Amino acid sequence: MSAPPHTLAPTAWQDAAIVRIDRVTPHMRAFEFDAPRMAPHRAGQHVDVRLTAPDGYQAQRSYSISSAPGAGLQLLIDRIEDGEVSPFFHDVAAVGDTIELRGPLGGHFVWQPADGGPLLLVGGGSGLAPLVAMARAWATAPEVPVLMLASARTWNDVPWADELAALEARHAGRLRFVAAITRAQPGRAQDIGQRWDAARIGAELQRWGTLPRHAFVCGANPFVETVAQALLAAGVPAPAIRTERYGG
Ligand SMILES: Cc1cc2nc3c(=O)[nH]c(=O)nc-3n(C[C@H](O)[C@H](O)[C@H](O)COP(=O)(O)OP(=O)(O)OC[C@H]3O[C@@H](n4cnc5c(N)ncnc54)[C@H](O)[C@@H]3O)c2cc1C
Repeated sequence: MSAPPHTLAPTAWQDAAIVRIDRVTPHMRAFEFDAPRMAPHRAGQHVDVRLTAPDGYQAQRSYSISSAPGAGLQLLIDRIEDGEVSPFFHDVAAVGDTIELRGPLGGHFVWQPADGGPLLLVGGGSGLAPLVAMARAWATAPEVPVLMLASARTWNDVPWADELAALEARHAGRLRFVAAITRAQPGRAQDIGQRWDAARIGAELQRWGTLPRHAFVCGANPFVETVAQALLAAGVPAPAIRTERYGG
């Protein structure tokens, strides 16, 4: 039997092959990589991706890991119309291509079952990626209560909406999943047809009947700002709130 491959330091660039591409929403695709030299990740961490043009020009972006620890390396990439890197992944990248990346990175925006709960996850659009990794990690030891609040234009724009709804059905009473559908009629009774604001978030926390020990908020800057302020207004202690801002 051959020795296991050595893992590299998270700061070292390595080549990783794309082994699978899935259309997750109309604007988001999931990319699975074979990265045998990457150390195991924790839910919430990200990788840096670096593209190099034939003339040597390089562009580097960060992408959260959406897979659970131990379940390979999956990234969810939203197509930003006038972007430099994300359209490459949607229009050019193909299974078998090799991409340069490094990681896993980040030690603050992470959760593992041993950290306990209650656990609040609030994500907008592709900002759900690291939170889905946390939900998938939670499902391996579904002990603490989880409230997951998503925001997207339509139900079909919520990444892995059906997987999350199935997780909720399987763990009824332990995991509650509510989507704010901002540009269509919400399909399920528990979902809301407007953006998350202080009143709606306060109402969800009241219904949950507890305050989170750990709250993770991820998405575009204005979304994260609004939600973090709403959580503070609802009485969530500032040290319990961790944020990841994607820009925009
Ligand atoms: C820690 C971290 C993790 C991230 N994880 C993910 C992830 O899991 N999935 C993912 O899709 N993205 C993620 N991002 C965002 C990602 O790094 C890029 O910023 C994004 O893909 C846009 O890059 P681009 O080169 O296509 O666009 P750029 O050429 O960088 O930007 C083009 C235009 O789009 C605007 N823009 C950039 N980002 C956004 C945004 N998020 N929303 C709206 N407008 C934007 C810019 O201001 C600019 O005007 C993450 C960012 C960080 C910091």
